[in-house]
Amino acid sequence: MDLPVKTYDVIIVGAGPAGSMAGYTLAQAGFEVLLLEKSVFPRQKVCGGGLTVRARKHIPFEINPVVHSTVRWGFVQSRGRMVKPIAHTAPIAYLIDRPEFDTFLLQQALDQGGYCRMGERFIAYEQTADEIHIRTDQNVYHSRCLIGADGVHSRVASQAGLM
Ligand SMILES: Cc1cc2nc3c(=O)[nH]c(=O)nc-3n(C[C@H](O)[C@H](O)[C@H](O)COP(=O)(O)OP(=O)(O)OC[C@H]3O[C@@H](n4cnc5c(N)ncnc54)[C@H](O)[C@@H]3O)c2cc1C
Repeated sequence: MDLPVKTYDVIIVGAGPAGSMAGYTLAQAGFEVLLLEKSVFPRQKVCGGGLTVRARKHIPFEINPVVHSTVRWGFVQSRGRMVKPIAHTAPIAYLIDRPEFDTFLLQQALDQGGYCRMGERFIAYEQTADEIHIRTDQNVYHSRCLIGADGVHSRVASQAGLM
């Protein structure tokens, strides 16, 4: 997709749950948002596929289409030994498919008017008096604000001296 050439309000690096939820919230509030994601969704992610009840409560839209089952019982184990069985009538957690879940969250941000460039890797940023210039392996973008949501090995945080 061709993107409008302009200065975005916010550029978000990384379209995992953190980036997509930031994108959703900001786009819904009327900000012009661009997400930059190095992989192409749906992408695989090492994940147990569990979503806690508390996490779900923070999601401000319905996620039923991507919840595969509700967990109401289980076992707490330590070093291979069962410590305690747990059983509830209320949900303990939900099971999701991570590639599908992350794609769904990103779609919510796009539905609010956010833009996304997939398959584009953030390389570096440069801050000037009134803008931030964000360089990827393919383009240079301009923004008033930059959010690093690029995961545990965040290159944005590293460049900002926040690691
Ligand atoms: C083995 C394992 C199992 C887990 N199981 C669970 C579980 O069952 N339930 C649970 O809630 N949590 C689980 N987690 C934790 C969960 O995966 C993380 O908390 C979550 O992914 C954090 O989301 P995020 O958006 O901050 O980062 P991420 O999901 O890591 O998203 C970061 C995104 O940034 C992109 N990116 C990175 N670098 C760049 C770059 N330079 N340019 C552009 N894009 C970039 C990546 O491609 C990625 O899409 C598990 C973690 C591990 C390691």
